[in-house]
Amino acid sequence: MILRYYADADVREWHDHTLRLLGTLHDVHGIAVEIDRIDEQHGPLTEFPGEVRSLTPAEVYERDLKRNQNLNQTIDQTPSEAFKRYGKLDVAGNIAVVDDEGTVQWASTLPGYADGYRPGAASRTAMDFLEDIATSPSNRLCVDCLSLLDGDENFCPNCGCELP
Ligand SMILES: [Zn+2]
Repeated sequence: MILRYYADADVREWHDHTLRLLGTLHDVHGIAVEIDRIDEQHGPLTEFPGEVRSLTPAEVYERDLKRNQNLNQTIDQTPSEAFKRYGKLDVAGNIAVVDDEGTVQWASTLPGYADGYRPGAASRTAMDFLEDIATSPSNRLCVDCLSLLDGDENFCPNCGCELP
């Protein structure tokens, strides 16, 4: 699995912090990371430990999100509701969990932090997701194999490792 960042987040601080968190996840947990740069706003990317591609929002929407049944099951809205608001693509700033077949299994649907959104948004925001897996033993994602978790397992259902 791989963590994919649809860059750049509008807010410079979110963008910079996302890059730092992805670097930590790569260096500390050995998680593969990559960037699809669909809205370049904040200058060149240097020293990123994964592949960086330049794409359009429409390209990543068509490839990763649109009519993605796996994603449909792990997020509250349909992909089109989440990423094509009022007919306009709104993807930049989000994070996706991509399996070995290249299918997006989960994606944040809000950039930034839960602060400022309605209660419960932390399960949907990019920054809260990354901080959760970078700063503490995560109950959302197995850091060994990047399988998504329900949060109440004692062992990862995919790789069998013990969960904290
Ligand atoms: Zn696992």
